[in-house]
Amino acid sequence: MKQFPAFIDLANRRTVILGGGEAALAKARLVVAAGGAPVLIWPEIASALRAELAGRAELVEASPARADLAGAALVFVAVDDAETAARWARTAKSEGALVNVVDRAELCDFLTPAIVDRGALTVAISTGGAGPVFARSIREKIEALIPARTDALLELAARCRDTVKAKIAAPARRRFWEEFFRGAVAERALAGDDDGARALALGAVDSFDTDQKEGVVHIIGAGPGDPDLLTLRAFRLIQSADVILHDRLVSDEILNLARRDAERVFVGKAKANHAVPQDEIEARMIAYARDGKTVARLKGGDPFVFGRGGEELDALRAAGVEAVVTPGITAATGCAAAARLPLTHRDDAQAVTFVTGHAKGDEDPDLDWSALASLKNTLVVYMGVGKASTIAARLIYHGRKSSTPAAIIENGTRYNQLIVKGTLGDLGVLVERAGVKGPALLVIGEVAARADGAGLVDIATNVRRAA
Ligand code: SAH
Repeated sequence: MKQFPAFIDLANRRTVILGGGEAALAKARLVVAAGGAPVLIWPEIASALRAELAGRAELVEASPARADLAGAALVFVAVDDAETAARWARTAKSEGALVNVVDRAELCDFLTPAIVDRGALTVAISTGGAGPVFARSIREKIEALIPARTDALLELAARCRDTVKAKIAAPARRRFWEEFFRGAVAERALAGDDDGARALALGAVDSFDTDQKEGVVHIIGAGPGDPDLLTLRAFRLIQSADVILHDRLVSDEILNLARRDAERVFVGKAKANHAVPQDEIEARMIAYARDGKTVARLKGGDPFVFGRGGEELDALRAAGVEAVVTPGITAATGCAAAARLPLTHRDDAQAVTFVTGHAKGDEDPDLDWSALASLKNTLVVYMGVGKASTIAARLIYHGRKSSTPAAIIENGTRYNQLIVKGTLGDLGVLVERAGVKGPALLVIGEVAARADGAGLVDIATNVRRAA
């Protein structure tokens, strides 16, 4: 966020607009729509303005003075001359007001956002001044998402609020409101049947089962990092979860989609390398679910690809807790797309194999090397960076040519993606060259020669492209 968003109550606050033309009128409309009564001061006030604002704003056709700005909460400067505008902005600031200067973001204390105004429901969109046109195009999309009669639904909710508060205690109350806004009550209200919706809502308050305490655990694949690569279901579930248990691979952009009041629990490896033990993660998920919570267990990539999703599912089943699995884009397919490297290809690769290069301490990964060395097979190694030289040596020993193309993709799909491309014989050098710190995959096979895209370093040509 570049600025702090807030909604300001303008009733009983002095709002001054300096200017007498179109821009001043636009600001005055905004203030009036938000329940304020602006004071508009300028030596010349256009007649169109006077006609539209009569009775809704105080119009003072005179040169403004410092005293006019005293005690103002907000001041809009809507004048053409840049120097005059800057001077009034300074004066208003020195009087303690928050200032907005039309088309001069650098002089503004606050910006006016693009607004979706549906009565009580207001959505404000800002790009921090960088792209107002883009903000407006987002507004159009949001407008299309909000049902026309939303205001009627919110009015009904406001009328029911005290009754609900009196009859349904806190933890169950949120569930009531979720059902209210998603279920039959909302449908009726949005369809225009206000009385029917009201009767249904009051009935629902009376018959609401406050004891129901069935939580659920969603094991969710969060993909390789780019939030655009979440599934729609993952997106929805992250936004509705009460508790989010996540590990290190889940990016901040994705965690920020969660509700503000959702509890976030980090269960991955911390910097000091202390991992929360697997059985403790499972015990926590079960405890939250038994407490009636909707739990999102967020995992990088896909939960069932080197993600221990299977173990967690077994534990939940054994505990009799409802569990739902949502797939994610696994690192291999995410990185392949980001590096424009097809994992299978009619000419070069008839199969693709995902393996883990993870091994205890100094041990070698326990893999069927001769099978993996077969031709026309793309080999994708997860967690393999530390063992890259060994993996290359074993594959070459079992018959894969050292000239076979190979690539390392670090932080695939993220803004800091790095692709280092070379051959199997060079794999150790490639790893060194990459200086890998983030999550990274090894891709070995003919298709790796095609790797291209943001953050590319080609060992053969020494081409480097910024991520
Ligand atoms: N369940 C995950 C894999 C977890 S194992 C999935 O389906 O993707 C962790 C390994 O995944 C890392 O060591 C790395 O090899 C790989 N990985 C995860 N995210 C990655 C990314 N954005 N770029 C490259 N490799 C990634």
